[in-house]
Amino acid sequence: MRLGTIPKTVVCPNCGKPVPWVPESEWRPFCSERCRLIDLGEWFNEGHRLSESTGDGHVPPTPEEKDGRH
Ligand SMILES: [Zn+2]
Repeated sequence: MRLGTIPKTVVCPNCGKPVPWVPESEWRPFCSERCRLIDLGEWFNEGHRLSESTGDGHVPPTPEEKDGRH
């Protein structure tokens, strides 16, 4: 009887491939370096796009504002 020998498995956020949560999975939660880079790149692009196209009208309230209103 062995307990705790089955590694936890996560799903690669980029391609949906199951990734065993073990030290050998160097790029977890991604399945590979490529998936990690792709995901980070998309994040960057999205942030870049958002900052470029201002005037969207979608501005979240800043916590500072809340604090000022005592
Ligand atoms: Zn992947």
